[in-house]
Amino acid sequence: MAAIILDGKELARRMRAELQEQVAAHASQDGKRPGLAVVLVGSDPASEIYVRNKGKAARAVGMESVERRLPESSTTNEVLGVVDELNRDPAVHGILVQLPLPAGIDRERVIQAIHPAKDVDGLSPLSQGALVKGLPGLRPCTPSGVMDLLRHYQVPLQGQRAVVIGRSELVGLPQALLLIEANATVTVVHSKTRDAREIVRQADIVVAAAGHPRLVRGDWIKPGAAVVDVGIHRTDAGIIGDVAADEVQDHAGYVSPVPGGVGPMTIAELLKNTWTAFLGEAMRA
Ligand code: NAD
Repeated sequence: MAAIILDGKELARRMRAELQEQVAAHASQDGKRPGLAVVLVGSDPASEIYVRNKGKAARAVGMESVERRLPESSTTNEVLGVVDELNRDPAVHGILVQLPLPAGIDRERVIQAIHPAKDVDGLSPLSQGALVKGLPGLRPCTPSGVMDLLRHYQVPLQGQRAVVIGRSELVGLPQALLLIEANATVTVVHSKTRDAREIVRQADIVVAAAGHPRLVRGDWIKPGAAVVDVGIHRTDAGIIGDVAADEVQDHAGYVSPVPGGVGPMTIAELLKNTWTAFLGEAMRA
C-alpha cells in the first residue's frame, strides 16, 4: 500500500492562514503588527532565495518584514552592531541571522548576541538550554515543523522508536530532544555511526537530516514506518531529499515529499515563532 503523504505544503498553508487571521484581529485592536528582521551577510545565492522567501511569507500574513543586508567583507563587530540595533528596535519582535555566515565572521558571537526573546531561529544558548530543560522558549523551526507535521497526521509518537539521522545544532540535535519530549525512544545516527542502515531499519519514525542526497534507501525502512525527509538538494532533475522516495513509498506508512514537506513547514514555524515573540510569550514561565 502506498504511504500516506505528509503534506507540509498544505499544513503550512493552513498555519499561515490561521496566523494571518490572528495578526489581522490583533492589528485591528491596537494597530500593532509583529515584525520579523532577517539579516543577510554576503550574497550566497541559496541564502538570497531563503531570505527573500522569509520576507515574502511574513508580509503575506500581515507581519512587518525588515531586511538588513551587509557585505561579505563585514566584520563580526559590524554584524553585532546590526543585531544590537534590532534587539533594541521595539518594532522588531523576531531576529533571524541567515546561516551560513561568511568564513571571517564569528558565528557563535553573533548568535549569542540575539536577544533570547527575539531568537526566532531558536539557536541561542538560552533557547537551546530552555529546550533541554523543557522550559518555555523559542524552538528551532525545522524540527518544530517536523513535529507539527507528525502530530497533524496523528503519527503515534509515545513509546515509538525514532531514529534521527544527523546531529546538527540546527536540525538533528533539537529534533532528537523534541522527539524525546514527545515520549519517543530516540536514537541519533551521525557521520561516525556504524551500521546506520541496521539502526534505521528498527525505527517506527525516521527523520533524515544528514545533508546527503538519497542516503536513505528502500531497504533502510521498516514496513509502515513514518519517514520525514529534511534534506534539500538542488540537482539537474529538480530538488531531492536525503531519502530515495521512490524506493520507500510503497512500504513506508508515511512519507514527507521533497519539495513540499518540511521546507514549507520551516517557514510556517518561523512565522509562528515571530507571533509567539510578538505576544511576549516566548520567555514566560
Ligand atoms: P549539517 O551538515 O549541519 O549536519 C549534517 C548532520 O548529518 C551531521 O550531524 C552529520 O554527522 C550527519 N551526517 C552526515 N553524513 C551522514 C551519513 N552518511 N550518515 C549519517 N549521518 C550523517 O546539516 P543540517 O543543517 O543539519 O541540514 C541537513 C539537511 O537538511 C541539508 O540537506 C539541509 O539542506 C537540509 N535542511 C533543510 C531545511 C528545511 O527547511 N527543509 C532546514 C535546514 C536544513
